[in-house]
Amino acid sequence: MEELLRRSEKLTTVGQLAAGVAHEIRNPLTTLRGFLQLQMQTKKLNSQHTDLMLSELDRINLIVSEFLILAKPQAVHFQVKDIRYILGDVISLLDSQAHLHSIEFSMNFSEEALLVHCEENQLKQVFINLLKNAMEAMPDGGTIHMQTWRREPGSVMIRIIDEGEGISKETLAKLGEPFFTNKETGTGLGLMISQRIIESHKGTMDIESELGRGTTVTVALPMANNQE
Ligand code: ADP
Ligand code: MG
Repeated sequence: MEELLRRSEKLTTVGQLAAGVAHEIRNPLTTLRGFLQLQMQTKKLNSQHTDLMLSELDRINLIVSEFLILAKPQAVHFQVKDIRYILGDVISLLDSQAHLHSIEFSMNFSEEALLVHCEENQLKQVFINLLKNAMEAMPDGGTIHMQTWRREPGSVMIRIIDEGEGISKETLAKLGEPFFTNKETGTGLGLMISQRIIESHKGTMDIESELGRGTTVTVALPMANNQE
């Protein structure tokens, strides 16, 4: 019974997601079609039109590629990895972009190995999404603090603290809804996808925020042991 309930829940979400994607993609497609029609009828397409067409195409591409992350990669490969190295890799990926925006990363990592059983690329995607949100919340720069430690009995904890604009109560209630965004070029998919990936790793993600002060995201993952 429970299993059935879970399955029907899953079906609705997949259905809702599909409807959302269709809707989000239809808007830029409508624009593209309109401009092409204009060109066929009047040959009056100018560079402003073509710029807009390009950015609409980019938008479709972004939405589709964010969704591809959710679609299972051909071979889902769960392996035991040290979260400190995963976070280190993600930081080197984002370092130059952060530097450009006067943002620094401050790391406070545990000395001991923190092993998790994970699909490495998916976890990297989660921390890229979270750090990008933190960076986008700090247009004037600042410091993003990252901590990782072991919590008894068996969790690996990761915390990302930004000094950004924070999140209002109304927005906080909507987080994780697909396509909910406050950004002009946002897709509103980052948190939803991160949440799903963390769930598939049997972990949890928690967001606390205060408007004007900043946001703290805490992820907990089950600790793996060396023998796995
Ligand atoms: P997107 O970044 O494309 O808008 P997300 O799912 O990543 O989509 O985030 C949804 C919304 O949550 C953002 O538009 C923003 O309003 C809010 N948000 C997420 N993380 C933060 C953060 N660290 N600081 C402030 N607001 C945030
Ligand atoms: Mg985002």
